[in-house]
Amino acid sequence: MKNPFENGMEQLSKVTKIKSFNEEFITRLRQPDRDIRISIPVKMDNDVTKVFEGYRVEYNNARGPYKGGIRYHKDTEINEVKALAFWMAIKCAVANIPMGGGKGGITVDPKTLSKGELERLSRGWVQKLSDILGPQKDVPAPDVNTTPEIMDWMSDEYEKITGDKTRATFTGKPIGKGGSEGRGPATGLGGFYVFDSLKGQLGLQGKCKVVIQGFGNVGLNAAQIFISHGHSIIAISDSKGGVYNPLGFDIEKLIEHKKNTGALAGFAGSTDITNEELLETECDVLVPAAFENQITDANADKIRAKVILELANGPITPEADEILFNKDIPVIPDVLANSGGVTVSYFEWDQNLKGEHWSEKEVFDKLLAMMDDAAQETFKKAKEYSTDLRRGAFILALERLEEKML
Ligand code: GLU
Repeated sequence: MKNPFENGMEQLSKVTKIKSFNEEFITRLRQPDRDIRISIPVKMDNDVTKVFEGYRVEYNNARGPYKGGIRYHKDTEINEVKALAFWMAIKCAVANIPMGGGKGGITVDPKTLSKGELERLSRGWVQKLSDILGPQKDVPAPDVNTTPEIMDWMSDEYEKITGDKTRATFTGKPIGKGGSEGRGPATGLGGFYVFDSLKGQLGLQGKCKVVIQGFGNVGLNAAQIFISHGHSIIAISDSKGGVYNPLGFDIEKLIEHKKNTGALAGFAGSTDITNEELLETECDVLVPAAFENQITDANADKIRAKVILELANGPITPEADEILFNKDIPVIPDVLANSGGVTVSYFEWDQNLKGEHWSEKEVFDKLLAMMDDAAQETFKKAKEYSTDLRRGAFILALERLEEKML
């Protein structure tokens, strides 16, 4: 299988086959502006120093400061971070926010660290990168396994080193410490707004049966939001496996069950399923909300969803995209579907710089308007070029980026 960056570049190539862009512009988009690898020494609790590998990729800042999360995962490596940074550049342009694309990470399984070790590691990442970060330079945020608390440590470390008191260098901070109302559920909520905007045009009506892969911040919030709008979650999974109940889950009880037992399996009234089975479950909406490369040419043919809403970054390979396109299964692509997170991050940055604090209602109203706009603009482009929504979103983004870069 190709790595995520190769997939991202293939998506770009596919788009340039149906619309031509300035050649130099596309050539420049095939490489990040900078890709930085750092080593972070951390004194562990047992007094032994361990060195971790960290990254920041600054992909493109034609539309504004580099923007994008920091991922902590044992499999995180430079090609993944490069892909995620490229997608951020596209995503910010689709959402039409004045930010560029960046991404960071550390190769680590955070569950193996104590809280003190995690804090020292997070502060270490900032110490190594503080000179390239800043409200007008590069603005990181949470991603997989990074929390508001981690953003608070990082923001504090940045302030200690540079004296900058705006707290606008990191977004996704806790509320009360410079964080925005609504940033927690923003990715799931934005995804729901995009879905709601497009569902009629994609042939869905009434209440939907939804399957979600992922039980982290994004998957869980999405589950709660879909349910609160009358839809039902008939299957959901975490990294260990999933559960299926055709009647729909009481998600709060399922959260409680996982808290008590450490797993989703064995939940009363449901059937245990594997992650593979989950993806192949018959449903109205399939929501991959975990990792890259989940739907590939090996299983795309077995997908029985009417629509796919990509809340994870890069869950579908370019080969699988073609198979789904031929099967008439529309994919609402990541760069549109999960752009609610970075949009509220942009709101947070804006509030920090202006010294304001907006109400949750104000944040959600603004988010709804922007997601609806991005969804409809994407749909229009896809129609105009008789193509899928991913290519539609890329065309929209590339037009906006090209205008700034030329
Ligand atoms: N990590 C999120 C993403 O992939 C959010 C990035 C941000 O808020 O800057 O879109």
